[in-house]
Amino acid sequence: MTDNSNRKPALSTRVAQALRFMEEGTGAVVPAIQPTATYARDENYEVRKPYWYRRDGSQTTGHAEAIIAELEGAAESLLFSSGMSACTAVIDHLPTGAHVVAPEVMYHGVLQQLQMYEKNKRITVSWYTAGNLDELAAAMKPGETQLVWIETPNNPNWEVTDIAAAAEIAHAHGAKLMADCTGTPPCMTRALDMGADISFHSATKYLNGHSDVTAGVLSVRETGQYWEDIFWVRKLQGTVLQSFDAWLLIRGMRTLFLRVEKASANAMAIAKHFQGHKHVEAVLYPGLPTDPGHEIAKRQTGGQFGAMLSIIVKGTEQTGIDVTRFCELFYPATSLGGVESLIEHRKTVSGEGFPVHERLLRISVGIEDADDLIYDLEQALTRANA
Ligand SMILES: *Cc1c(COP(=O)(O)O)cnc(C)c1O
Repeated sequence: MTDNSNRKPALSTRVAQALRFMEEGTGAVVPAIQPTATYARDENYEVRKPYWYRRDGSQTTGHAEAIIAELEGAAESLLFSSGMSACTAVIDHLPTGAHVVAPEVMYHGVLQQLQMYEKNKRITVSWYTAGNLDELAAAMKPGETQLVWIETPNNPNWEVTDIAAAAEIAHAHGAKLMADCTGTPPCMTRALDMGADISFHSATKYLNGHSDVTAGVLSVRETGQYWEDIFWVRKLQGTVLQSFDAWLLIRGMRTLFLRVEKASANAMAIAKHFQGHKHVEAVLYPGLPTDPGHEIAKRQTGGQFGAMLSIIVKGTEQTGIDVTRFCELFYPATSLGGVESLIEHRKTVSGEGFPVHERLLRISVGIEDADDLIYDLEQALTRANA
């Protein structure tokens, strides 16, 4: 018989069991919610560890963080009340005047935040074309750049950035690499393993997966003063994830692997079906072998390609808007990563001033039946072109 005494269950097993949770005494296999805002001191009037007031965290939030740290292979993870508050904490922990390098097209909330801080002279920013590492390298200012921001795959065109190569550039200049991999959750991409210093996910998206929580999470390979500073931003701004939301997130994460596998397969079926379609000019999806990011994605996303794609329809801007109006299964809503499929006319959603193709439809593919989704897009395209 083989000796299995050192055998460690797979990550998917550990996450499905919420790290083998079982409540002492009762045997309940689901954790209770601990919503307390404060904790009593002990019999010696000492503050208890690790929590003593809600803004530091709670058992429920801590449990969700432990699961994500496991998923990411992180030293530690911190959960915030939204993806944006997590991103803002990273920007906020930088000293005034710090230089940041960031893609000029990226998730619009982060872009707006960086632009606002730049306008207020809080930080300086140099911009590069998403996915273009030569431009990223050229934007570095030796001795000045403290943070390099990448988003991969990158909203809303899904360019793929080589995380390891970006880390090398950042580290050669003494800067830290922040990787927003929201589009490919840690069951696909473990950015820390590839050299990122901070891995970020909007947990509103795939980690929770049910469109009923906003949350964001930062994970790090190594702790240190900067991590302590980020923790203090969360504590002082009160942007910790609340317990009930953390509990929903724990429940959502138990099915992460299943959901992502199904949604990725659906996205691949949709991308293949509509590539070369008579009403479609282009399909932007790293899973297609013709996509410029395909080879890097193959190395970086664990054999799946995620469930985010965009299609550029033929016709006019109105044709694109009409397709979203005529869908009967896809919801015409923003956000991504839920079990239900969403479609949006990105230019309308991100507003003026964002460089987005006027006929681009961003699609978040859910876990429904692939043929149903293809049929729905087909009928919407036919109607919009009638
Ligand atoms: C949604 C999202 C964010 C922001 O997260 P919220 O939870 O909405 O605050 C940041 N980056 C990417 C890539 C996202 O998709």
